[in-house]
This record gives sequence, structure tokens and C-alpha cells, in this order.
Amino acid sequence: MPTLEEEFQSLVETTKQYFMQQQDLFGNVIYAEEKKPAENGSFFAGFYPAEPWVQAPSLDDQNKQICNCMKCELGATRTNFVFGVGNPNADVMFIGEAPGADEDAQGQPFVGRAGQLLNKIIEAIQMKREEVYICNILKCRPPNNRDPQPTEMETCTPYLYKQIELIKPKFIICLGRISAQWLLKTTSTLGGMRGKVHDFHGIKMIVTYHPAALLRNPNWKYDTWEDMKMFKKLYDEMKANA
Ligand code: URA
Repeated sequence: MPTLEEEFQSLVETTKQYFMQQQDLFGNVIYAEEKKPAENGSFFAGFYPAEPWVQAPSLDDQNKQICNCMKCELGATRTNFVFGVGNPNADVMFIGEAPGADEDAQGQPFVGRAGQLLNKIIEAIQMKREEVYICNILKCRPPNNRDPQPTEMETCTPYLYKQIELIKPKFIICLGRISAQWLLKTTSTLGGMRGKVHDFHGIKMIVTYHPAALLRNPNWKYDTWEDMKMFKKLYDEMKANA
């Protein structure tokens, strides 16, 4: 039977670990301030800085206004700003984590080996790459493909939110743990997040493996296919009821 003091010590230890995990994920902001919808009713607009690009009427316009961004140190090492590609009125957005070397060189998301696999996944659900919208949390490549830092994601997320606000997708598919944890503000594992439909501020969000992870671990393709079938069923239902 633990003594009261031992129980207290264990509680302190668990709490400490929780805050350290939060700090790893979200930087020094150790509690999330609840964001209220902005005055115009949009949750996303509540995160916008007071900068002219937030008024951009289209994706092209937004890209033109932000593509020389130097807000974080990735601006100095990138070759190209990787805004996003696809249908500006897409029903489905695929969101990855950050550009890699091929994407940095070409200025387009998911064009390397992981991108080729993503194209196959999209084709497997009878859709075309041009029909969906593809982008990342970060618009610039982290050196040596290291994980995005919380401060970089914090800085770049308003750009993504504006893209979401302009596109108004019915579905978002998060590719991999990092983008899903960041957007859903959770520390869940990928296994804990996939296989269900999340509500992302009124948009249905599905989480699945990152195609780069599938290249390393082909055994995960089966679960990815299950996730995509779940998505496709909901998408077809949505279209049938439209
Ligand atoms: N991995 C990503 O998360 N995004 C890309 O664009 C390419 C690889």
C-alpha cells in the first residue's frame, strides 16, 4: 500500500511528465488558450495576424503575398516556398507535415517518392490529384528533413488556416502523426487517431499514415487502405446527398 506521500510524489511525477510532453509538442505554451470564433464567425480568422494577406480573396493572391515569408529561420534555407497545389474548390484537402528535398527544389508538395505513393493512394479511391488540394503545415523545408519545431508550426499555421477558409473542404485527410497531432491539439498516437472521423471545426477529419512511413513500413498499407475506404464511403454519401 503506497503511503500518502508516495501517492503525492507519483502524482507530481505524472503531472511533470504531462507538461514536458505538452512542451515538446506545443513549445512553451503549456496550456492552450481557448480561441473564440472571430467576429466574422470564422474559427480560423481568430488566428490571423494583422497583416494584409489575411484579406486575400483567392489562393493565388494569398500565395503571391506570402511566398517571400521570412518569419522563421526556414525562410533563409529554403529554395522554394511550397504553398500547395490542386483544386481551389476541392472537397478534400490532404495535409502533410513539411516539404522535403524534392518539394523544396520544385516548389510543389508531395512530388518525391512519398508523393508518387500519395498519387497512387488518391487514384485507388478513384480520384485525381488535380481534383483534391494538397499542402503541408509548414511551407518551407526543415533542414535535413528534421521534424518541424512547434514554433515553426505556430508561425505557419495561420497560412494553412487561410487556405482552409478559402477552399472550404468537406474533408481533411491528415497524413501522418505530426500534422494530425498539431491540428487536433492532441498527444494521441497515430494508432489512437486513425480509424475514426474527427470534427475539425465543422470539417470531417481523417488521420492516416504518412506515405513516407508506408515506404519504410509497407505493412501499414493495409490500415491506410482501410482509412481511405472509410473516407471514400463518407465522401460518396456526401455526394449522393448533395
Ligand atoms: N512529406 C510531407 O509531409 N510533405 C511533402 O510535401 C513531402 C513529403
